[in-house]
Amino acid sequence: MLIDQYNQVKKNVQEACKRAGRDPREVTIIAVSKTKPLSMIEELRKEKVMDFGENKVQELKEKYEQISWPVRWHLIGHLQTNKVKYIVDKAALIHSVDSLKLAKQIDKEAVKHNITEVPVLVQVNFAHEDTKFGLDTSEVMETIQEISTLPHVKIKGLMQIAPFVENPEENRPYFAAMKQLSVDIKEKNFDNVDMSILSMGMTNDYEIAVEEGSTMVRVGTGIFGERNYNI
Ligand SMILES: *Cc1c(COP(=O)(O)O)cnc(C)c1O
Repeated sequence: MLIDQYNQVKKNVQEACKRAGRDPREVTIIAVSKTKPLSMIEELRKEKVMDFGENKVQELKEKYEQISWPVRWHLIGHLQTNKVKYIVDKAALIHSVDSLKLAKQIDKEAVKHNITEVPVLVQVNFAHEDTKFGLDTSEVMETIQEISTLPHVKIKGLMQIAPFVENPEENRPYFAAMKQLSVDIKEKNFDNVDMSILSMGMTNDYEIAVEEGSTMVRVGTGIFGERNYNI
């Protein structure tokens, strides 16, 4: 049963919180359902799991339209400017804002869809990996300041996709760096910006991310099993 896998993740999160002296209610588990059928999402939804993550606009849109009960959809994958219009009214949170240009487009589409405020996270690439999207740490402060002037975009925090590593301990410094960066940003008191959410940690390393301050873990394989991209 999927709920058993989910509850195992929940238990691991609780234990990581205990080790770090944190309140487990601060941490939201996002069930990353990309490539998985709607039936699996509905199975978890029946057990009151509300937060699901998708990395593709088209897939999020289709599942949004087909699901029987409302859930909170998280867009966790790269977002192209020309696709903002399809999800601006569907995603509960966009995790992957990585440029002023994209934020401006979100602001524009929010107006068109009569949305007062679109909650977003700013994606940061701490390990400076060329293969990953996200702002370089050197650009983050300035970009956040610029985005903060957009009236219909609300920055709720930061997101990172840590490198794929054999030993998840290797990612601890990146998680700690993100926590520190969020503290530095908070101190600037930008309008329209709060740092209540840190989206970090995946199946391989979410416990360490929680120990370092994550408030949203994005777990796919650990809940749904391996993905098969060929189907
Ligand atoms: C696929 C994906 C995840 C989940 O990965 P798992 O290793 O299966 O837990 C998390 N975040 C993002 C951005 C993803 O694309």
